Amino acid sequence: MNAPVNDLLAAGVCVNPFPVENGELVVGGMPLSRLAARVGRTPFYAYDRGLLIAHARALRALLPPAIHLHYAMKANPMPALVQTMVGLMDGLDLASAGEMKVALDAGCDPRVMSFAGPGKRPEELWQAVAAGCTINIESDAELPHIRAAADGLGVRPRVAVRVNPDFELKSSGMKMAGGPKQFGIDAERVPTTLGSIGREGFEFVGFHLYSGSQTLRSEAICDAQRKTLELAVRLAQDAPGPVQVLNMGGGFGVPYFPGDVPLDVAPVAENLRVLAEEARTTLPGATLVIELGRYLVAHSGIYVAKVLDRKVSRGQVFLVTDGGLHHHLAASGNFGQVIRKNYPVVVGTRMDATDTESSSIVGPLCTPLDLLGDRMELPRAEPGDLVCVLMSGAYGYTSSPHLFLSHPAPVEVLV
Ligand SMILES: *Cc1c(COP(=O)(O)O)cnc(C)c1O
Repeated sequence: MNAPVNDLLAAGVCVNPFPVENGELVVGGMPLSRLAARVGRTPFYAYDRGLLIAHARALRALLPPAIHLHYAMKANPMPALVQTMVGLMDGLDLASAGEMKVALDAGCDPRVMSFAGPGKRPEELWQAVAAGCTINIESDAELPHIRAAADGLGVRPRVAVRVNPDFELKSSGMKMAGGPKQFGIDAERVPTTLGSIGREGFEFVGFHLYSGSQTLRSEAICDAQRKTLELAVRLAQDAPGPVQVLNMGGGFGVPYFPGDVPLDVAPVAENLRVLAEEARTTLPGATLVIELGRYLVAHSGIYVAKVLDRKVSRGQVFLVTDGGLHHHLAASGNFGQVIRKNYPVVVGTRMDATDTESSSIVGPLCTPLDLLGDRMELPRAEPGDLVCVLMSGAYGYTSSPHLFLSHPAPVEVLV
């Protein structure tokens, strides 16, 4: 069977990986109201350490041992969570010097850290060279800064080339490759960059290809992975040294909405097994890496807000909470969704209730966009109840505009 969260998608209704006891959600072994008392205030994000560990181990058990697993920190860079992930993963992928600091603080070996992203500032490149992590070059303009850092620090930089491939990840929620893109170096121009790396005498680590995000279709992922290996083998002919690492990207999606069918990881694992076998001859000595963000952490997190008011307007119930869009932009439907759909929402203090009603969950902001749940069938809730947005462990806290309307930021806990 796949990871725990896959088992829990009951009839496409709601993804709830948390147990229920005495009518309350239990997070990190603690009933929700007690956890809220421990945190001391609402709203807050809580991440369940046990779920993180179980999920990572379940995925690991499915994947062939030759495949290395990296965590893409931007999905959730909370320091304590990253520290947990360091113990479960083979490496981390970072997208800024800020994330690099968290990764180093968490005790991650810089040799298994790779730094990608367009617009790396010269200071960030110096920091990465000094730290000794791999820099995924996305533009030839990065090379002179890396050269200067190498000379200034007396360190041989470790570089990989992020390639903008000539294909994309089909049916992905967010396309990040193929066609003109700000990410990576166009495949046809990569040989030139490889020549420059050779002349500079940098340590050539390998290639990074990232073709998209949030796909639930295993065939699409397998297709992109096969094309990734083929392209890397072709590009390796012009490389200044052997490919040590091929980062094949990720794109594993998670089910958020009614009707979403969870990704079946088994065919992806089988495809990776075949590709890893092929790579032993076509890219000898190379380690194959996949980098995942949301798939590893989304299900383990909830966002908890307190009901301040139950307001009825022209027959429609509004649960007005102390949390909203400013803390959880994605749940409001404003983080990349084309058509707004409800995230899975539960009343975590009334899990056994049979008396339900159509309710909209809104926040305190003066905008109709501040909507966490639109006319959802939920237990009848009252002020003081705790509303929970599930599937909130990825792209929650740090993907939201906390400053909007000057309310306090939410708290984050790992339990
Ligand atoms: C965002 C990103 C990821 C993580 O994507 P998820 O959809 O969270 O798995 C991985 N690699 C790169 C290069 C990214 O930009």
